[in-house]
Parts: sequence; C-alpha cells; structure tokens
Amino acid sequence: MRIILAAVAAAFVFPAASAPAKQPQRPLVAQYDVQRVTGSCEAGLKRARDEIKAMEGRRGGAGLYREWNKLQIDIEDVFNPIYLIGNVHPDKAVRDATEPCQQKFSTLSTELFQNEKLFKRVQDLKPANDRERKLKKDLIEGFEDSGVALPADKRKRAKEIFDKLEELRQAYDRNVRDDPTRVKFTPAEMAGMSEAYLKAHEGTRDAEGNYVLTLKYPSYVPFLTNAKSGEARRRYYLAKLNEGGAQNLDLLYEIFKLRQELAGLYGLKSFAEYSLRRKMVGSPQTVNKFLDDVKSAVTELEKKDLEELRAVKAKELGTPLAETKLERWDVSYYQEKVRRERFDIDQEKLRKYFPTDKSIDYTMLVAQTLYGVRFQERKVPTWHPDVRYFDVLDGKTGKFISGFYLDLYPREGKYNHAAAFPIRGVSRLTKRTPLSALVTNFNREGLDHGELETMMHEFGHVMHGVLSEADYNAQAGTSVKVDFVEAPSQMFEEWARRKDSLQLFEKVCPQCPHLTDDEIARLDAARKYGQGIRYARQWLYAKFDMELSTDPRPPLAVWKQLESATPLGHVEGTIFPASFSHIASNYAAGYYGYMWSEVIALDMLSQFKGRMLDPEVGARYRREILSQGGQREEMEDVRKFLGRDPSSEAFFAEITGRR
Ligand SMILES: [Zn+2]
Repeated sequence: MRIILAAVAAAFVFPAASAPAKQPQRPLVAQYDVQRVTGSCEAGLKRARDEIKAMEGRRGGAGLYREWNKLQIDIEDVFNPIYLIGNVHPDKAVRDATEPCQQKFSTLSTELFQNEKLFKRVQDLKPANDRERKLKKDLIEGFEDSGVALPADKRKRAKEIFDKLEELRQAYDRNVRDDPTRVKFTPAEMAGMSEAYLKAHEGTRDAEGNYVLTLKYPSYVPFLTNAKSGEARRRYYLAKLNEGGAQNLDLLYEIFKLRQELAGLYGLKSFAEYSLRRKMVGSPQTVNKFLDDVKSAVTELEKKDLEELRAVKAKELGTPLAETKLERWDVSYYQEKVRRERFDIDQEKLRKYFPTDKSIDYTMLVAQTLYGVRFQERKVPTWHPDVRYFDVLDGKTGKFISGFYLDLYPREGKYNHAAAFPIRGVSRLTKRTPLSALVTNFNREGLDHGELETMMHEFGHVMHGVLSEADYNAQAGTSVKVDFVEAPSQMFEEWARRKDSLQLFEKVCPQCPHLTDDEIARLDAARKYGQGIRYARQWLYAKFDMELSTDPRPPLAVWKQLESATPLGHVEGTIFPASFSHIASNYAAGYYGYMWSEVIALDMLSQFKGRMLDPEVGARYRREILSQGGQREEMEDVRKFLGRDPSSEAFFAEITGRR
C-alpha cells in the first residue's frame, strides 16, 4: 500500500568477524531489547551532535558533500532500524521504547536543517557534476523548508511545530495500531466465510462459540467481501470505521492547524502550497486540475457500477428494486458476487493457485528475470521466527549487491498495512550497500489475486531501494518525490496480471493449479470491473486531503460534507478520518500522489510493449529509474526511460476501462 519514508534515514551488526573472508559483508538489523533501543538511540544522537559540531567548525563548501554523507549514514544507521522495530517487534515494551527515540531524531533533523552555519556551508558547495548539483538544490530546499532563512522568532516556532507534529503523528498512529476493539459474531453470522478463514479464526472463539474478531485487514476485508449477513457486515463496518477513536479526530485537526501555521511562517497561503512546491506537480493548481479530470472521468461510471450492484442486491434479497438501498457495507460483498457470477472468479479459491511461499518465489523470479539479479536466502537472526532474509546478488558475477527481509504474517501489535521499510540507503561513494524490509499481513496458506498484486507492489518498492546506485545516501533508492515514489511499485503490480509473466508461476509451482488464458482474461476483466467505484473513492480521499491541506477545518465535518455528496452518502456514526494514517504523516497534501504515480506507472509500462519479461527493457528500467533514486529530477528519469514526455492517456484509458 505504501512505503515508509523516513525523513532522516540504525544499529547494524556485521557478522564478518566470525565469517570466512570471502563472505560478503552483510549488514543486518541487530537484535533489539529495550536497553539496546535506548542505548543505541542515545549514543547515536550524541555521535550525530558531535559530528554536526565538528562540521560547524569548518568553513566553506569544501569537503561538505562527504561530511554530509557520513552524517546522514550515521543517523540512518541508528534511526531506520529503530523505526522498523517500532513497527514490527513482537515485544510491546520494545516497540514503545522506540517512540521517544523517534521523537528525538525528528527534533535532531529539524535542528540540523535549521543550522545557520551548515546552511552557509551548503550554499558554498561547489558541485562537480549534475548529481552533486541536484543534491545541493535538495539540501538548500530542505534547509529553507525547516525555516533556516526565517527570522529567529519564526524559526523557533517552526521547530516547535515540527516537534509537535511528530508527537501528534505518533499518538495518532498508536491509537490506530493499538485499537483494542473486538467485534463478536455468532457462528450463523459466519455464513459465507471460507473453511480457511474459519480455521484461521478458530482461536478467536469465546466460551459461547462466537468468533471475536479484531479490526485487522486479514480478518476484516474477507469478511466484508464474503459474509452473507448484511447486519453482521454492517456491525463490522461501523467498528472498523471507528478505528483510532474520536481522539484521533482532534489530533488530526490539530495536525492540520499546525501545518497551516507553518505555511504562514513562510508567507504561504496554505500547507498545500508549502508541500506541493517541492513535488513533481509543483502547485495546488496542478493537483486540483488533475483531480477535476479524474472526477469527470469517473462520476458517471461510479453511478452505473453502483446501480448495477443495487440490482444484484434486490435480486438476492428478493426485494423490489425501488425499495432496495445499497449500503457502504454492501459494496465489496456484491462486487464479489458479480465477480464470481459474471467472471466466474472466486478470490478465496485463488489461494490454492497462489500459495504464499510460491507467490514469493514467483515475485522474486520476475524481478530476477527483469533486472539481471539473483536472490539467495540466508539464515540470519531476525526479530521474529517468521521473518526471512535474502541477499541480492548480481546475476552474472554473483557479487553481493544488497539485502532484504520479508515479514509477511500478521501478529499482535504489528504494523497492520503492507509497506516497504528502507533500512539502509545506498551510497556508491562509500561502497555502502542497501537493505530494506517488506512488511505485510498475509494469509499463511495462500494469497488471493489482490494480495498477489500487493506483494508485487511492495516488492516494487523494495527493488527501488535495494537496486539503487546513488552516489550519496541522501538520494538513495526511494528518497524521491512523494508523488513519484509509488510509480515503480504500481508498475510492478502489472506482473501479477499478464499472461506471459504469470506463466512463470508454473516454474515455481508445477503442482499448483494454473490460470488458463481464459481465467487470466476474466481476472483482468474482473479487476477492471468496478473501476468507477474504486477511482471515485481514491478521488474522495485525495480531495479530502487537499481540502484540509488548503483550509483546515474539523476533519469529520469536512469528511461528512464530501462523503455525503457521493451516491452512497455518509454513514452516520462512522469517523473515517480517525484512521486515515496517510494524512497524519508525510502523505499529507500528497494522497493524490497515488493516482499521479499511476499516470507515470501506466505510461512507463507501455515501454514493455506486451513483452513483460524482456530483460533489455528491464535493464533500461533498472538503469534509468531504479538505480537513480533522487539524484536526478524524477521527470528526467521518466523522460530518459520513455524517450519522450510522459502522457496521462494510458491512465485515463485504464480508469474508464478503455485500455
Ligand atoms: Zn506503495
């Protein structure tokens, strides 16, 4: 779903000492306990502050590129693993211990970018090439955005705001992550749920035999899609749409008010302006125009899609159409019913086609084929027995390039979406190798097709991180503009959809049932079915984000107003903005970026010209996009790969079903 972008990018162990000399130096995430979190955090902060002090003592730009790179790496080496561990460690005490540390590093980052002496030195940098020129520009903008050029009182206030925003974001995320809500269902209310689902939730049953379910995706999503009882779906929907609690509405409002104040310190009208001037789009006008185009493309489609579902509901319940109302908790259920009937696709049955381990093998085989690399699993110590680790090696020479972890299954207190976490960013100049983690909440037995797409998506982010060849750490891998960062991951989803790539599944699992040509065509038709609903929803999220980023008002009121204007309306008693984590964090004034990135992703896809496993195009893509990270303007990366200016034609064809 998304990538975690750490603003400053840890403790690593190099097992090299005990390993034979020819083994690659393989950096890994250390084994953390509370003490180690606190200890490495304090030591890391002290070290960074000492380095900053030494950097302040020097004059002029000479040497600063390297000094900056070292500082950034030293910060990343402490912060990134702690940030990851805060999201995945099985021990709540360890997760909790990371929070004050995250806060302190956020403060350090603000101080660093408000440091006048360093700003002066950055201004004096003499770039030796385009990559250094881009880094200088990025650094200057980073300093300016942190308020270094502001008068002292405003700069002080900017720092207070950044600190407070980090504190509020943490509280918001904690309220979502640790939401204790459970929803109880009788065995009769489980009608429609698969054997596998029932088996997986056997452990949740209480003394009366009721299923007691959490709000986590692997429980919630299949239930809304399959449970026959409309009343049971309604209860679960209401609970899920209260996740995070009313407290988060207040936190979110405060967050947006502070952002508005921040923009004001710069003499800018809104946070949207403050944020978007640093993105690919450049201004709120471009975003608003794009969102208007999306809206006009999908408005009628959405109505048509929903009318159709309403008819299906009337038929199923045997109620007159005029008296049948389609509810929000009906949408996934009836969509699934249509998908099954019209396209004869049963997502639950697809889990047999895509066993989880084999799906990983498949995803990796696709990437190995395209990018000329090899993945080698290694037994290494990790934070949980479920977690696996792989080396990334050059396909020809076997040379060690980088590594990644896979943490695939749900557990109590774990990050509850799917995301890629950069742990180490590359720096070619210091021979530093990248390391990332892919974190999901998959079913152990198998994936449905949507989850296979999620797997490919997050793996697309991981490849962007671990195949990066940027000179400087600040520009490594996914350190790109937020409205571009989803393009490589969205593009990679397509390899879950096309016949010539899916044929590789036979190689990784000869004994699995395989999709026939007809099934692949039907899956694709099923996916495109309901695009009107899907993109209308994406539009709504993006619009809501832009509204708050332009003119902060109480979030629930704004949400109600926007949602009420949609065909299905607003469900009284739901508080969606309480769990919209994206906009509490750095996706604010950036949610549109998912669709914007998709414009780029679909356009880039055209280069494969239907030959999805063409290693030549794969190599060009690796060179022009994946390896570049942020060391070139994203628009230039895309132009170099495409050989022309990007176009939104493929995107609008996709969302209106004309592709
Ligand atoms: Zn993503």
